[in-house]
Amino acid sequence: MRDETKCLHSGYTPKNTEPRVVPIYQSTTYVFDSTKDIGDVFDEPTKALIYSRFANPTVMAVEQKICELEGGVGAMCTSSGQAASLMSILNICKAGDSFISSSKIYGGTVNLFAVTMQKYGIECIFVDDDADEETLNKAFKENTKAVFGETIANPALNVLDIEKFARVAHNHNVPLIIDNTFATPILCKPFEFGADIVIHSTSKYMDGHALQVGGVIVDSGNFDWTNGKFPEFVEPDESYHGISYVETYGKAAYIVKARMQLMRDFGAYPSANSAFLLNLGLETMALRMKRYCENAIKVAKFFEKSDKIEAVTYPGLENDKNYPLAQKYLKGASGVVSIIVKGGKENAVKFMDSLELASNEVHVADIRTCVLHPASETHRQLTDEQLVAAGINPGMIRFSVGLENIDDIIDDIKKGLAAIE
Ligand SMILES: *Cc1c(COP(=O)(O)O)cnc(C)c1O
Repeated sequence: MRDETKCLHSGYTPKNTEPRVVPIYQSTTYVFDSTKDIGDVFDEPTKALIYSRFANPTVMAVEQKICELEGGVGAMCTSSGQAASLMSILNICKAGDSFISSSKIYGGTVNLFAVTMQKYGIECIFVDDDADEETLNKAFKENTKAVFGETIANPALNVLDIEKFARVAHNHNVPLIIDNTFATPILCKPFEFGADIVIHSTSKYMDGHALQVGGVIVDSGNFDWTNGKFPEFVEPDESYHGISYVETYGKAAYIVKARMQLMRDFGAYPSANSAFLLNLGLETMALRMKRYCENAIKVAKFFEKSDKIEAVTYPGLENDKNYPLAQKYLKGASGVVSIIVKGGKENAVKFMDSLELASNEVHVADIRTCVLHPASETHRQLTDEQLVAAGINPGMIRFSVGLENIDDIIDDIKKGLAAIE
């Protein structure tokens, strides 16, 4: 099946007389004929469902759909994108370990990696995404267990050289984790370029309608966990009757371990109802992504012509510094355009507050056009140094182009620009 078809059909195939649409299994638990039957599931946890803290049929239908879209061997939904980032690392790193991350990542992930994880003894080593391989190689320590980056960075919009990061990670026998939120599997499939794990905030384009927060982790099944660096995948797990994840689950070792250890213990699993709504978003994702890209390039070109705009960043623009990487890795540059308004913060705020159609909100990648001013909103926690490292200028606005008629979006932008002297 091609992507458009997977969006509609993957994950749920009704049998004779069953409901056309994936049902909402709104139940915390599952019934068994005998005590022995339940006992068997504790011995072999993938045999049947026992509790909705870590597996539920509605959620699993969505997991399977996203897994097939990314081309992986297994996926696990989480209750937020943050939970997906956190668990993707915790499944590999423990106190005393470190991992490497591109510094061009989402502000919430910077907080999680640089501040919160540090408190639990896991060090994040930030690197410049533009760094050459020699410099990247030098960032590794003896205890470095993973590499992390975003396909299209939020909000800097740098396109990651996934193959370069995969090479460097694999030279050091560690996996590459890619946050593919902005691209979605419709615009980029990181596994095809060597990534080992993909995560998403499904709150963005996947859900698409600003209905609910969610996340997902997808396992390519390609990483060799038996290379000596990852004993927790190979040696018996005492918390699971001495199971060896690699021996028992083979290629799906990573994702089964994430569910059986981390989801069991942390319980950040979405509800069936959330998964049902996410599925509706996924059904139209391929169609929507195409239109976001079409609208966004027109918006980017319009901004380029305005003398009130200092800079426009959109990897789909031919003179954008990320254009060559976008051509290589993306089938479209998504709906997010970033601009720097001349006159810094003051004019940026004037522009934002004069828009009527676009909503001023803490969101991105919605079906409706929305705008955000990182320096005074999402990224206000970051120091000036961190702002620069994350690629954020005080006059920068993240303009998330929606699916309205393009002429209405442009008319709205004209109102914003008119407010700036
Ligand atoms: C929003 C976002 C996240 C965090 O996701 P939540 O669903 O808000 O927890 C992570 N990565 C990227 C790229 C994002 O845009």
